[in-house]
Amino acid sequence: MVASNDDLVFLDDSEDDSEDVADLQPWRVLVVDDDQDVHEATRFGLAHLLILGRRLELLHAHSAREALELLQREGHIAVILLDVVMESDDAGLRTVGVIREQLKMLNTRIILRTGQPGQAPEADTIARYDINDYKTKSELTQNKLFTTLTAAIRSYDQLLRLDANRRGLEKIVSASNQFIAEKGLRTFAEGVITQIASLIGVAPEGVVCAASEESTSPHLPGDFRVIAAAGDFRDLIQQRLQDIDNPAIIGPLMQSLESHSSVIQPRSITLYFRKSEDEGFAAYIASSTPIRHVDEELLQIFCTNIALWAKNIDLVSELRRDAFVDRQLSLPNRTALVYELNERIQAGREKGQCLVVLDLDQFAAVNDVLGHDHGDALLREVAKRLREGLPPDTYIARLSGDSFAVVGSCDAVHRDSVQACFATPFVIHEARQPVSACLGIVRLGTPNASGIEYIKDAFVALKRAKSQGLGSAVEFSQDIGLQERERSHLLRDLRMALDESQLFLTYQPQVELATGRVVGAEALLRWRRDDGYLVPPDRFIPVAEQSGLIVGMGSWLLQIALLALQRFRAAGFPNMHMAVNVSPVQLRQTGFLAVVQEALRQTQSEASALEIEITESVAVGGLEPVIDILTRLREMGSTVAIDDFGTGYSSLSYLERLPADRLKIDRSFVQSLERDDNGSRIARTIIALGRELDLTILAEGVENETVGRLVTALGCAEAQGYHYGRPMSEEQFLEWLQVHQKGIA
Ligand code: C2E
Ligand code: CA
Ligand code: CA
Repeated sequence: MVASNDDLVFLDDSEDDSEDVADLQPWRVLVVDDDQDVHEATRFGLAHLLILGRRLELLHAHSAREALELLQREGHIAVILLDVVMESDDAGLRTVGVIREQLKMLNTRIILRTGQPGQAPEADTIARYDINDYKTKSELTQNKLFTTLTAAIRSYDQLLRLDANRRGLEKIVSASNQFIAEKGLRTFAEGVITQIASLIGVAPEGVVCAASEESTSPHLPGDFRVIAAAGDFRDLIQQRLQDIDNPAIIGPLMQSLESHSSVIQPRSITLYFRKSEDEGFAAYIASSTPIRHVDEELLQIFCTNIALWAKNIDLVSELRRDAFVDRQLSLPNRTALVYELNERIQAGREKGQCLVVLDLDQFAAVNDVLGHDHGDALLREVAKRLREGLPPDTYIARLSGDSFAVVGSCDAVHRDSVQACFATPFVIHEARQPVSACLGIVRLGTPNASGIEYIKDAFVALKRAKSQGLGSAVEFSQDIGLQERERSHLLRDLRMALDESQLFLTYQPQVELATGRVVGAEALLRWRRDDGYLVPPDRFIPVAEQSGLIVGMGSWLLQIALLALQRFRAAGFPNMHMAVNVSPVQLRQTGFLAVVQEALRQTQSEASALEIEITESVAVGGLEPVIDILTRLREMGSTVAIDDFGTGYSSLSYLERLPADRLKIDRSFVQSLERDDNGSRIARTIIALGRELDLTILAEGVENETVGRLVTALGCAEAQGYHYGRPMSEEQFLEWLQVHQKGIA
């Protein structure tokens, strides 16, 4: 027999299910009567009867009081056959009140039985206490009793289901909202299985089938895949419906998906969820016991709701796709990469895999010079090279402007294979253009690391690579990570130090050797942390340089130093200069000259009061712009000193071309003079050289009189060092000046 309406198809197979009666809970019926004969008669009348396929279990009470005691102990009473007149004329009616109002047993059906018609309760009492039926004892023949009980039990059963359904629906509503917010269709579909199972009261075992994403509607049977599976069906996940070797599953699912309707069989239920005219999905739930009395209307509501939510999920997935894809290159973006990595980690698939982030060298310049169209075309080409140059299963993402990430087996995804993608010049708009990239490489598989952490590590390595020059690659290591963490802590603290004025300047005198006269002072930066610790400048200045923090700091300390100089000059040293260290980062900053001029203006200092100390390393990024700035500084009237001379890698040709006034011989050479080793020979050579170039020579790090004499003899005009004065605070320096008014021998 096939009874069908639009949404439900009931299939009745001929399977005999009587053996299952034993599995089912009997209906519990409580007989309450003070007449033992009635108990006997009822027991006799109902013996061996099945109602809705289940046996009956009779419980007996002989008074209202006994009945209430029993009801407090026993649950799941389907029906109470209740005598009206017992201890009192209305004992039965009072009992009903207690059952409904105090015991809150609302589903249990109550049939009143009375000896005489005159004892009938009022109609409103029947309504108020939800009394199911009212019969005189003489009326209740065996047959009548059976039909009355059947009606009552059916009604009880429905009430129970409604209760369960209401709970089920509440669960679905809250669960759905959560699914939509957090998870995709698959998780949602798993939830659907659980919900249907609880709705019909079976264990959650089943599958959900939907058309695979690539297929277009209208769908063919081969398009359907298992998107969720629970219980014994777990292994079917992702299988194509037509490949499943189990007719019991395929049959109803195919039927449901093709007919766009639900199929209910004795031991399975397959619900169809219609998302649109020709799109939907189906959930198959198996039951080890026969499924009975499925509330059609409720199932329909359920299906409609689920379908609606599924549609919402589609919408969310679409939005999410947007959030996951880089539109310009149609590649996964950074968010997607994080997910991908986390998924690999969760599945334990990350071992032996490598993440490489790559960043094109000088891409900003390409954009600036050749235009954005050209830049975009180049990026597309890079994506193509990566796709074609690396194995097909390599995961490729675009992280930002000109940085990409690739993930794959370390055997295939490594520095050589990625660099090989850049081996030949790119051809963009018919122009050949060599392009290089720096790589940061991370081996996945560190315990407890997350996707985000791997990406961070890769960028740390990338940064290292960038600092090593074009086309470099660096693999991340614990050491690199540690140094980076220290650096970033230092940088954070340094920012704070700036705000909290933990930074200050000290001044070290520079003297003329022949006369002992003070000719100038060098401003040296100090950082005293809250705990009193003095962070060595050699540690924090590189950090300030790399972060660019030095630029702001530099203009600030220029002014402070010039203000201090004014006090020194006013104290009787009108010709002193102030030497300020300027790092290459500052010097290259466009507007550096303006910063100097502004500091001079603000402090009303003459340009000649200022000396800029640079090291040979300024030459690394190209000499021309540096020469230009230094020339202009000198034209303004300021002087230039070349610091740490001899330690850098610069050559004589640099020295010749750098516009400078003073040469500061590094203290390592100066101090070696006492030992007369190789360094001392170099010192002699450098001093001779500086004189040749007509530069004033200043010896750094003179710590005693002997060295002072030696450098004088070698032709140094000036010196600086602990022997003359240590770096001092402004106040200390002023005092020092008073003491050394007449010069130092
Ligand atoms: P530098 O410019 O070569 O500074 C001279 C360094 O030698 C200073 O170290 C000074 O304290 C030290 N010194 C001076 N006389 C003697 C001596 O007789 N014996 C010995 N052993 N050392 C002596 P400091 O202050 O630790 O500075 C280290 C470096 O930090 C400086 O080397 C400079 O490169 C950098 N620096 C310091 N202040 C600034 C600044 O304001 N801006 C920039 N960009 N760099 C700075
Ligand atoms: Ca210096
Ligand atoms: Ca120096």
